[in-house]
Amino acid sequence: MAPANTKEIYGSLVFNEHVMKERLPSATYKSLKATVQRGQPLDLDLANVVASVMRDWAIEKGATHYTHWFQPMSGMTSEKHDSFLSPNRDGTAIMEFSGKELVKGEPDASSFPNGGLRATAEARGYTTWDPTSYAFIKDDTLCIPTAFCSWTGEALDKKTPLLRSMKAVSTQAKRVLALFGKEVTHVNATVGPEQEYFLIKEEHFNARQDLVLTGRTLFGATPAKGQELEEHYFGVIRPEVSAFMKDLDNELWKLGVPSKTKHNEVAPCQHEMAPIFDRCNVAVDHNLLTMEMMRKIAKKHGLACLLHEKPFEGVNGSGKHNNWSLSTPDMNLLDPGATPKDNLQFLIFLAAVIKAVDEYQDLLRMSIVSAGNEHRLGGHEAPPAIVSIFMGEVLEGILNAIASDSEYVVPAAAKIDLGVEVLPQFAKDDTDRNRTSPFAFTGNKFEFRMPGSSTNISDANTILNTAVAKELKGYADELEQAEDFDKAVVALIKRTIRDHKRVIFNGNGYSKEWEEEAARRGLYNEPSAVEALSAIVTPKNIQLFEQMGVLSETECRSRYEVKLEHYAKLRHIEAVTMLEMARRQLIPATSAYMDKIATGIVRKRKAMEGISCKAEEKVLLELTRCTDAMSETADHLETCVEQAEAACDSLERGRIYRNKVLPAMEQLRAAADAAESICGKDHWPLPSYSTMLFYV
Ligand code: ADP
Ligand code: MG
Repeated sequence: MAPANTKEIYGSLVFNEHVMKERLPSATYKSLKATVQRGQPLDLDLANVVASVMRDWAIEKGATHYTHWFQPMSGMTSEKHDSFLSPNRDGTAIMEFSGKELVKGEPDASSFPNGGLRATAEARGYTTWDPTSYAFIKDDTLCIPTAFCSWTGEALDKKTPLLRSMKAVSTQAKRVLALFGKEVTHVNATVGPEQEYFLIKEEHFNARQDLVLTGRTLFGATPAKGQELEEHYFGVIRPEVSAFMKDLDNELWKLGVPSKTKHNEVAPCQHEMAPIFDRCNVAVDHNLLTMEMMRKIAKKHGLACLLHEKPFEGVNGSGKHNNWSLSTPDMNLLDPGATPKDNLQFLIFLAAVIKAVDEYQDLLRMSIVSAGNEHRLGGHEAPPAIVSIFMGEVLEGILNAIASDSEYVVPAAAKIDLGVEVLPQFAKDDTDRNRTSPFAFTGNKFEFRMPGSSTNISDANTILNTAVAKELKGYADELEQAEDFDKAVVALIKRTIRDHKRVIFNGNGYSKEWEEEAARRGLYNEPSAVEALSAIVTPKNIQLFEQMGVLSETECRSRYEVKLEHYAKLRHIEAVTMLEMARRQLIPATSAYMDKIATGIVRKRKAMEGISCKAEEKVLLELTRCTDAMSETADHLETCVEQAEAACDSLERGRIYRNKVLPAMEQLRAAADAAESICGKDHWPLPSYSTMLFYV
């Protein structure tokens, strides 16, 4: 329950700046800070001092173990716990934690996915501390956020490329800022991820194998009441949900996660939590912790937290809106400035983002691919997965005017004449109305709305940072040579907008017309998750990653392999779960119900010759039809799965899962859902959509 003093518990389980300053010898603190700022590895003497202070602090807080906490390529987070304990010969023990143990770990990581990067014989990789993300205590364990690499230096995780991309964008943004006469130590990519999720009763969750094993309902007839009324959005929060949210806030605050906003979302049982933004890598770490805590804390309240992108068919899915910007220590670079010079600077960064998004649409699309997100975007009955930018009318008007050398009079009557007048501040209200845009400018940041709710957003941010770094580099290269800087900047902004305005779209991103219009504009539109993954290995994109020092070609290829495999594995689990449920739960259930009806008919007739059994016969016939269909579609699904598993490479396998297995799953579901809608309520073995979503 809410503690009396939020301020006191905030960050109480974090080895943060405050603790370091208080506990480390001041020379150590200073050199640690300097090393971290320069992004250099810690030397062992320094690490030893930090480790011993960290250990004492952790033990005081009740920790007995430590772990290098990392993000393997497919999963969420991984940890292997080692205790601080070190036995003495005399039977006593001391608590040890050395600098070496802090800085470097060697998990036996042979079974983490590596996409062919390592043969098992040389499977060892190592983890290194990311000192820009604070260590924290969870479950009596000191968790040290780390990156995970192979002995040959290849990244085996999601954090390493993210850190590299942050460095790239910082370097290039600094070059551009220097041209505006601003010398800054670094530029941070900042992220504030809004996390959507569902909460249902745990007993309902446990009663459904599909939810337990795959996170989504693979069966379920449409309820009589859906989300049509939209009465849930921002509605009153249920008491048990409110208790969950308070508890969650508390636990997150202790971990230094700045959870700020919470509310109900559009769909029944759907909610959202938004933290205050932070540096990109920290925001990602915090989001991963948030998801873990959500799952754990829900249980304590008799609830189950569903982070899947599409847990219920026909009901809104969940996403993770990735708010992104670039900031110096004291200035948000996507905030329109107050002077003409600042306007130019703002516009150049804005232009870089527009160009980056247009040039690398396919990579952004790739970064959000997952089996779960496929039901939310690009898939059957889902909006198209086309990347476009929403600018808002005012800003688009300004950009068009700049591009065409015409005057634009903004509603506030401030004339925009680059270099002379001041750009208006964009009120958030002006820019945040379009909820159908995948990439929306919201006043002083961009909101990338395509990532799925369960996704690790390292990928999306790695792509954003890298692509923007690349465009900023191009700008810096050009502008550093310019004779008349102001003129050159204006020309560059104009050129960018002229060449890339096709990616700007303010209309309804979910409409059929947009899909047609986007095709006319030549925008990338790949509906298949499996095909969309190939963007990570096209020559143009490999060149981008290599040029920006974010991923080598080998690393790109291994990631491609891991992503394909992951997709196939998840679909495999879903298909097999469906088969098992259909054959062992649903068909037996309808059979039992039919038997009951048939027996009833016989009894009725025995009791009264010639009596009408029309209603029963109708159900019996219809249910027989559905049950036969379940049986046939299940057999067909099994054949498709066998075919997929027999495929000789992962691309082929992925394709079969997407193009054959998925439709076969839909057929089986259709048959089962039809059966559910006529089978006696007490005979259907699964909690229905109405039961799960509209409980009191
Ligand atoms: P909405 O639901 O209207 O999109 P929210 O308040 O739920 O708005 O979420 C906005 C998110 O954007 C918050 O996480 C916030 O911290 C984040 N944000 C604000 N400014 C920045 C910024 N400069 N960089 C990154 N994220 C930001
Ligand atoms: Mg939002």
